[in-house]
Amino acid sequence: MNKIVKTIAKLVYPDGLCCISCGNEMFVDDRADVCFCKKCLPQRNAHYCKICGVGLPKSTQDYCNSCLHIGKEGIYFDAARAPYLYRDDSVKAIVHDLKYNGGQYLAEYMSKAMIEVVKAQDWKIDEITYVPLHWRKEQKRGYNQSKCLAKYISEALNIPLTDALKKTVYTRTSAARLGKDDRKKLLEGTFALNKDVNKKNILLVDDVMTSKATSNECSKTLKEGKAKHVYVITFATSVGDNEQTY
Ligand SMILES: [Zn+2]
Ligand SMILES: [Zn+2]
Repeated sequence: MNKIVKTIAKLVYPDGLCCISCGNEMFVDDRADVCFCKKCLPQRNAHYCKICGVGLPKSTQDYCNSCLHIGKEGIYFDAARAPYLYRDDSVKAIVHDLKYNGGQYLAEYMSKAMIEVVKAQDWKIDEITYVPLHWRKEQKRGYNQSKCLAKYISEALNIPLTDALKKTVYTRTSAARLGKDDRKKLLEGTFALNKDVNKKNILLVDDVMTSKATSNECSKTLKEGKAKHVYVITFATSVGDNEQTY
């Protein structure tokens, strides 16, 4: 029912005047940011690791523990950022609806906050790409949620969208349920280059970064294809290991 209400709201108010979470129309006074009304606003990712972008508890810290101790070793993207933390229920519900409940219409709204964050960086971007799904998974779902987000970001920034990567191995086990090391192992070598990225600065789009494994494996493939810089933007990211393990 809520989904129907949201869909109708989207048709009636196509300019993003509805809250992405409750679907209510947002008058100027109700707006907390581009996505949420004041009642639904989750915690913004205001203090984050300068490398991997995970949320940090204090503004005084510049890096999460893992980036602080191992530095950039083993990290293939140059920086990652996300407007929200993958912690509040409202954020989790939106990410879930986008992926599993046919919520493609949410992508346009979600992309607004991501565009704001990308614009605030000093990134030079030549092309925008996204985390691919195996063709069988995409066929089953009917769409790739990351590509939906990437399309809106590409339009707004006027930077070309490219299918730079493909997923060559169908990973049956839900990687989300695995531990950090198992997830990394499961994803190793499962992406391949689909287009030439030589000397290009690439923005990689995904819906959420719960571990760095997916974005990192995609970035590794792009860097092996001689991409100059790889930046990652997701709608939400996890809380850094300074606060909890992930
Ligand atoms: Zn709301
Ligand atoms: Zn970090």
